[in-house]
Amino acid sequence: MDLNRILREYFGYESFRKGQYELIQGILSGQDVLGIMPTSGGKSLCYQIPALLMEGITLVISPLISLMKDQVDALRESGISATYLNSTLTSQEQRIRLEEIRTGQYKLVYIAPERLNTPDFLNIVMDVSIPFIAIDESHCISQWGHDFRPSYKEIPRFIARLNRRPILGTFTATATEEIIKDIKGILRLNRPLEIVTGFDRPNLYFRVEKGIDKKKYLLNYLKKRSDQSGIIYCATRKEVESLNKELKDKGFFVSMYHGGMGTEERQEAQDTFLYDQSSIMIATNAFGMGIDKSNVRYVIHFNMPKNMEAYYQEAGRAGRDGENSECILLFSPQDVVKQKYLIELNTMHSEREIVAYKNLQILIDYCHTHDCLRKRLLTYFGETTDWVQCGKCSNCLDDREKRDITLEAKKILSCVYRMKESFGVTMVANVLSGSKNKKVFALGLEKLSTYGIMEEYTTKDIQQIILFLVAEGYLTMTEGKYPVVKLTPQSAAVLKGKEEVYKRGEITAMECQEEGTVHESLLKDLKDLRMKIALEKGVPPYVIFPDTTLKEMAVYLP
Ligand code: ADP
Ligand code: MG
Ligand code: ZN
Repeated sequence: MDLNRILREYFGYESFRKGQYELIQGILSGQDVLGIMPTSGGKSLCYQIPALLMEGITLVISPLISLMKDQVDALRESGISATYLNSTLTSQEQRIRLEEIRTGQYKLVYIAPERLNTPDFLNIVMDVSIPFIAIDESHCISQWGHDFRPSYKEIPRFIARLNRRPILGTFTATATEEIIKDIKGILRLNRPLEIVTGFDRPNLYFRVEKGIDKKKYLLNYLKKRSDQSGIIYCATRKEVESLNKELKDKGFFVSMYHGGMGTEERQEAQDTFLYDQSSIMIATNAFGMGIDKSNVRYVIHFNMPKNMEAYYQEAGRAGRDGENSECILLFSPQDVVKQKYLIELNTMHSEREIVAYKNLQILIDYCHTHDCLRKRLLTYFGETTDWVQCGKCSNCLDDREKRDITLEAKKILSCVYRMKESFGVTMVANVLSGSKNKKVFALGLEKLSTYGIMEEYTTKDIQQIILFLVAEGYLTMTEGKYPVVKLTPQSAAVLKGKEEVYKRGEITAMECQEEGTVHESLLKDLKDLRMKIALEKGVPPYVIFPDTTLKEMAVYLP
């Protein structure tokens, strides 16, 4: 079989991208596969080509209703018969399509997971041969992921009902261990061929900004890029709405997208953005999976997301066309508070909670390290690199003077030691700055010999240095909602004078918002959410919260 010829003739491409050939070969030889490739790595071709070459019908299960039509149209243009089944069809259209599927008019059928176990569809599949099922965005099956879709859990039940167990091809851009384990386990993949291609996106430039006025930074940035397209991610619906209004008032062309908007409204916003009618999309993480806009020149995270995975996937929506693009994360401490609150809400003290806090801390470290950001990201995804600096991230390009902060570090480390490694960042910083905070006195911490030994700094400055020391491994944090700062073997080296510590740039106070306001805005989101679910279920709102499992609510939240 000349796969290269098929690639050329049907798709017009000269050569396969990394992993594509192997995955296609694997499927054609009858093996289950697990393709882990970064966003825009070219996963679709890996199931489209086998579908073309196999007898019978290939089902493509995808959560992305809005993208099905585009993919099907593109396939038809290349002369490949394809169709889709999802909730956008009228029952009349649906009936016709089902009949066409029965009479073998399509090679590929895209289907939303909710449709699989419907009587109409089950009826049809008994009459046709389905040698291969592709499960796109297969991380949606895992509750560990940020895109968990309960309907994906329906897939195994559907497969079990088929006359013959088809070959399964699973595809995702998510590579964390727990999720991979879930994909293999829940879908019961049979000794799958697992291909992980490189995760590096060389055309993306990574930047972290902290201790800045975010709004000012953003406006400045956008002004210089009025001719380019970009996405701005915020943590909550409320923030999306207020930023949308503000930018609109300032004359920017913006669209917004979040889970609180109606389906049509969202579709319209997405189309406006995709077809270049608006240059900026302001959105929660509800926007994005599978978005194929090639010329996104920047992705700005106005709020820090919940973990590296979510970050890399969202940032990865920049530069799909291979042109240079920027991924900027604006860090502020209140984002940490916000994320912790969301974790509490979504995990409800289950065993997932600890993992969620751990993953959050890894991202906080990313925001504070001096290491190459790209290296941190790739290392997180299990990729080893043979270089130390990429030369294309804000840390590699940071040419600010390095300051010797060994003395500060020593003071902090000894304070952690004197506080018996039992307090969080804020408390340690309070003691060092000599804060008059009531809690300090209630615990008698003002009697410690390290109380006030850094009074020339504000508590906030000291917090920032502590977070830097954590990010660089001089300190560590325990897991959980209230992490405690602990010493590491590296702390000993500093305390004994064997290692010096350097930090770039000024130590400036960070903007900070009262925690109260954060909670309030989140509570409002939750109230809206409760209302929405209640309406959908036709029950009074008080039934929904707090009794509804928060897991269920988490699906709706952004
Ligand atoms: P993913 O699903 O992995 O995010 P897609 O399948 O949407 O990525 O592919 C991303 C883009 O790359 C698409 O525009 C696709 O046509 C293009 N593409 C895929 N394979 C190749 C190839 N072998 N050569 C050139 N372009 C390709
Ligand atoms: Mg895809
Ligand atoms: Zn770098």
